[in-house]
Amino acid sequence: MNPFTYHTPETQQEVLTLLHEHGDETKLMAGGTALVIMMKQRLVLPETLISLHRLRGLAEVQEIDGALHLGALLTHRAAETSPLLRTRLPVLAETYRRVATIRIRNVATVGGALAHADPNQDPPVTLLALDARVQLASVGGSREVPLVDFFTDYYETVLRPDELLTAIRVPLPQPHTGSAHVKFLPRTADDYATVGVAATVRLDPATETCQDCRIALGSVGSTPLRALQAEAVVRGQRLTPELLREAGAVAQQQTDPISDTRGSADYKRAMAGVFVRRALEQAWQQALTAAR
Ligand SMILES: Cc1cc2nc3c(=O)[nH]c(=O)nc-3n(C[C@H](O)[C@H](O)[C@H](O)COP(=O)(O)OP(=O)(O)OC[C@H]3O[C@@H](n4cnc5c(N)ncnc54)[C@H](O)[C@@H]3O)c2cc1C
Repeated sequence: MNPFTYHTPETQQEVLTLLHEHGDETKLMAGGTALVIMMKQRLVLPETLISLHRLRGLAEVQEIDGALHLGALLTHRAAETSPLLRTRLPVLAETYRRVATIRIRNVATVGGALAHADPNQDPPVTLLALDARVQLASVGGSREVPLVDFFTDYYETVLRPDELLTAIRVPLPQPHTGSAHVKFLPRTADDYATVGVAATVRLDPATETCQDCRIALGSVGSTPLRALQAEAVVRGQRLTPELLREAGAVAQQQTDPISDTRGSADYKRAMAGVFVRRALEQAWQQALTAAR
C-alpha cells in the first residue's frame, strides 16, 4: 500500500471537516472489507484515510414516520439480526444474511456496501425494490438521493468526495405487499450472485390484480438496475404463468451482463429472465396469502 495519513475522528462534524479539508485524495473506511483489498491491489491510493470506527450514533435501526432508518455504520450482521428489521422488513434482513460469510458480515457496513457500488452486491438489489433513499452529508448541508439515482457506473456513485453517507431510509411497504429476494448461486453459498433479483408486488385484494410492483436486478450490468419495462408488463394485471414469463423476457432485454467466472453474458441474461419470474412469483404468492 502507498503511505497515507490516518485519522480516527469521533464525531460526524470532525469527519465532514476532514473530508472538506482533504477532498479528492481522501478515502473513508468503514468496515474496510472492500477498501483494504482495493488499496492492496493499488486500485485506490488515498493520501488520507479517515476511519469511521470511532464514530458513534450511526449504527442504529429506527422506525420513523413509516420508514426504517438504517444508520450507515450498521454492520450487515446487526442488520440481519435486528428484531425491528426482521419483523418489519424481513426480506431486507434476509438479504443481508445472504452476503458473504459471517466474518465479513460482522464488519462490513450497510453504508459501505452502497458506497462501494459493486454491481454484484446483494443489498442494493433489495433496497432498490423497496424504493430506498440514501442520506448524504457534507459541511455544506445534507441531501437525500433515491437509490435508483445513486449508482452511475461500476464502483461509481453520485457521492461527492466531501460527502459522508449517513443513513438509508427504507419506506415500509403498504398493506397487501409481498416481497422476495432470490440469489442465484451456482458455486458456493458465500459467493457473489451470478444473478440477483428482488421484487415487490402490491395486490389489489378486491380484484387480485397487481396494483404496483418493483423489480430490481444485480450482477447483470454496470450498476444494479430497476426493470421498469418489466414492471409495466405486470402492473394492473393478474399474475398468470404466461405474464410472469413475459415479464422475465422483457427484464432480460434490459440487462447487459459481462462474461466472468460466474457465467457467460448469455447465460446470465437467460438466468435474469428465470429469476425475475421466480422473484415475482414469490412476492405475488406472499401478497395473496396475506390478503386471503
Ligand atoms: C470475501 C468477500 C466476499 C463478499 N461477498 C459478498 C456477497 O456475497 N454479497 C455482497 O453483497 N457483497 C459481498 N462482499 C462485499 C461486501 O459486502 C463489501 O465489501 C462491504 O459491504 C463493504 O462495506 P465496508 O463497510 O467494509 O466498506 P469499506 O470497505 O470500508 O468501504 C467501501 C467503500 O465505501 C466507502 N465508504 C464506506 N463507508 C462510507 C460512508 N459511510 N460514506 C461514504 N463512503 C463510504 C469507502 O470509502 C470505500 O470506497 C464481499 C466482500 C468480500 C471481501
